[in-house]
Amino acid sequence: MVQKRRGADQWSGPRSTRGVVGSDRPVREGLNIRGCLPWIMKTVLIGVGQAGGKLTRALVEFDSRMGFGAVLGSLAVNSAKTDLQPLSMDTVLIGQARVKGHGVGGDNELGAEVMQADATEVMGSLDGRITAEAEAIVVVAGLGGGTGSGGAPVLCQELRRVYDVPVYALGILPGRNEGAMYQVNAGRSLKTLTREADSVLLVDNDAFRSSGESLEEGFDAVNEAIARRVGLLFASGEAVEGVGESVVDSSEVINTLRGGGISALGYAAAEAAPDAEENINIVTSITRRALLTGSSLPDATEADSALLVIAGRPDAIPRKGVERARRWVEEQTGSLQVRGGDFPLDSDRLAALLLLGGVERSDRIETFMERARESIDQADAEREDPSEQWANDDLDDLL
Ligand code: GDP
Repeated sequence: MVQKRRGADQWSGPRSTRGVVGSDRPVREGLNIRGCLPWIMKTVLIGVGQAGGKLTRALVEFDSRMGFGAVLGSLAVNSAKTDLQPLSMDTVLIGQARVKGHGVGGDNELGAEVMQADATEVMGSLDGRITAEAEAIVVVAGLGGGTGSGGAPVLCQELRRVYDVPVYALGILPGRNEGAMYQVNAGRSLKTLTREADSVLLVDNDAFRSSGESLEEGFDAVNEAIARRVGLLFASGEAVEGVGESVVDSSEVINTLRGGGISALGYAAAEAAPDAEENINIVTSITRRALLTGSSLPDATEADSALLVIAGRPDAIPRKGVERARRWVEEQTGSLQVRGGDFPLDSDRLAALLLLGGVERSDRIETFMERARESIDQADAEREDPSEQWANDDLDDLL
C-alpha cells in the first residue's frame, strides 16, 4: 500500500523497525508491513558546539519522525551553557574550569584544549550509549567556530582510540560570506579532522541556502536538508542475512568511506509511476540531480568511490534505470568503485542518495583551502584586541 506523502520533498516512512534485526523472518516479506525496516545502520551521534548540537537534534528528530530507529543514542557537548539549554537532549558542558560556561568565543585552539581537558568526562557520558549494536559513531560540528571546530578532532581521536567501529565526522563548512576567522578555523579543523576521523562527510553551508532567508532560517534549511540525506543514508544500510541481493547494507556504506578523506552526500527525489518500466528516466534524472544540484558539497564530482542508493517501492525501481544511473556515476566521478543498492521504502516517490568517498581533490575543497590560507593574516587582525584600532592613524578623530 502506498502511503500518503507529507510534503513535496518528504518521505513518509514505515514505523520503527527495531526488534526485527537479526530475526529469522524473511526480510522481503516484511516490506509491505509497516514496521519492518531491518537494514538500518545503527549510529551514535555526538554534536559538538552550537551548530553540531543543532544539526544532531535535527538528525534525531528526522530519524524518529520517519520511525527508522537508526540513531541508537545522542549527546550534545559544548563549552557554552546557553547553547546547550534549548536542545532538549542529553548534554555535557565542557571547559567550565577555563571558560565558566561562556564558550570559547571562536577560538578553536581553546576549543581543542577544553575538549582535551574534559575528554574523560565526555567519554564517561558515552558509556552505555555506544553498545555492541552500534556500527558507527558520528561526531557532528560546525568547522568555522570554536568549540566544535577545535573539539571535534580531539573527540574523534579519543573515540577511535577506544572503540572499534568507524568514527565519522559530519563537518559544516562556513559559507563564503562568513568572515576570515571562520575560514581559517575551518581550514585548520578540516585538515586535522581528515587525519583523526575515518571519513569527514562535508556539508557546505552555502549548498542549501535560498536567497532572501535570514541566517537562522538558512541554517534551519541546511540542517533539515542534511538530516534528510544523512538520516536516509543511515537507514539504508544494515547487514542482514537473507536480504535480497539488490538491497543495500551497511557494509557498503562503510566500504565506500573506507578510503578516508572527505566525503559528500547528494540527494534528489521525484514522483514515481506505479510501473518500474516507466521509471527508468526518473531514476537517471534524480541520480544526475543528486550529484549536480543536490549535493552537500556542490562541485565535488570527482571521487575515489561512490554508493548509489535508490529508495522507493521495490516494484517501482527499474533495474535498467539503476544500471544506467550507476554507469553515469562511474563516468562522472571517474571512480571504478561505484556500489549500488536499493532501499525499499513504502512511498509513492523515488529518491536517489549518492555517497561519494575521497572527494578532497575537488575544486570546492581546493578553493576553500586556498581561501583559508589567504585569510590567515586577515583573521589575525580580526582577533587582535579591538581597542588597538583606536591607537592607529587609519581614521582621523572627529574633533
Ligand atoms: P561553536 O559553538 O564555537 O562550535 O561554533 P558554531 O557551532 O556556532 O560554529 C560556527 C559555524 O557554524 C559558522 O560557520 C556558522 O555558519 C555555522 N553554524 C552555526 N549554527 C549553525 C546551524 O544551526 N546549522 C548550520 N548548518 N551551520 C551553523
